[in-house]
Amino acid sequence: MNGEKTNLLNLSLDGLKDYFADLGEKPFRATQVLKWLHQYGVDDFDSMTNISKSLRGKLKDIAIIHGPEVVTQQISDDGTIKWALKLDSGQAIETVFIPEKNRGTLCVSSQVGCVVDCSFCSTGSQGFNRNLELSEIIGQVWHAMRYFGSAKVTGNRTISNVVFMGMGEPLLNFDPVVDAMNLLLEDNAYGLSKRRVTLSTSGIVPALDKLLEVTDVALALSLHAPNDKLRDELVPINKKYPIDVLLKSVKRYLDNSAAARKLTVEYVMIDGLNDSIDHACELAKILRNIPNKINLIPYNPFPGNSYRSSSQKTLKAFEQILVSNGMIVTTRKTRGDDIDAACGQLVGKVNDRTRRMERIDHKAIKVNNIV
Ligand code: SAH
Ligand code: SF4
Repeated sequence: MNGEKTNLLNLSLDGLKDYFADLGEKPFRATQVLKWLHQYGVDDFDSMTNISKSLRGKLKDIAIIHGPEVVTQQISDDGTIKWALKLDSGQAIETVFIPEKNRGTLCVSSQVGCVVDCSFCSTGSQGFNRNLELSEIIGQVWHAMRYFGSAKVTGNRTISNVVFMGMGEPLLNFDPVVDAMNLLLEDNAYGLSKRRVTLSTSGIVPALDKLLEVTDVALALSLHAPNDKLRDELVPINKKYPIDVLLKSVKRYLDNSAAARKLTVEYVMIDGLNDSIDHACELAKILRNIPNKINLIPYNPFPGNSYRSSSQKTLKAFEQILVSNGMIVTTRKTRGDDIDAACGQLVGKVNDRTRRMERIDHKAIKVNNIV
């Protein structure tokens, strides 16, 4: 598709600088175009009014601005919005917007499927298909920004936070994810602070060690179990990078980071599996040397998986133990579950349980997104 033309959404700031240098243009063109793309969300060259007519004409011949296309949009009773976005290759990914009182969080995908195959995750259960390119990752933010309107125009920064908690393991798609994060942090693009961009990982230790060399965004760790025996079962990558090794790497990351001084620990509460009082005590113990806040996530069910969420009573008791051990704990409210937009429910499927839906193309999705 689109022949030889360069998709400008696939270029980082440095990439754009090189691109314009190759065209014999001054470096400031890169910043100008970056602003049009990521601050104003334009998708045509004619809107770039501070670019000369001749350069715009040239760009039309050699470049495109092309993000993922919306297949469906579902709006939950609680205001959560889930988009299924179609990629040129035919697969679908999902992006979720979660409005809260003082912030709006966009949850983005980094891969189609996931190779890590956690036993409680519907993305993992569909297997791995491929890594997303930069244009497909930042394209999710670009799309959402266009939907809400550019903050430069509306004066409202509707998307205040971005979390890499959608489909895929971001550290297994390192370079495009880092490029996307850099655009999120770049003043001439999305301009978010490092504290408002969170990378969530199942714990790919070598990649985490590499990450601290290039960024210090906020970090979330999908821990889910307080010992290796149980974590091996829930998060199989633990067999390769066990808890002790992983927490040391996390510590190195935090020590190196001005923005992410505190780790967010994600812990899915699964009935009868990882939710006992002993587990809570063990969890408090292994985390005692790491500045952290624990986010308990009630397990979200999905078809074909037999786990159940811990009861309210168990959740409370678990939380109580952690709190009495001096931990900071929040229990994540399940958002958007009426549209399958809650954690771990993202599979890129298209379904009919929606209140509002714009159906644009159904066929391509159904065929390709389940691996
Ligand atoms: N691969 C990364 C980021 C995507 S998963 C990671 O694992 O961290 C985002 C979060 O959703 C993770 O904490 C993950 O463990 C959680 N999650 C996955 N399946 C879930 C489910 N069925 N119920 C609740 N949370 C789930
Ligand atoms: Fe992959 Fe994260 Fe799901 Fe595990 S929880 S399978 S790492 S997306």
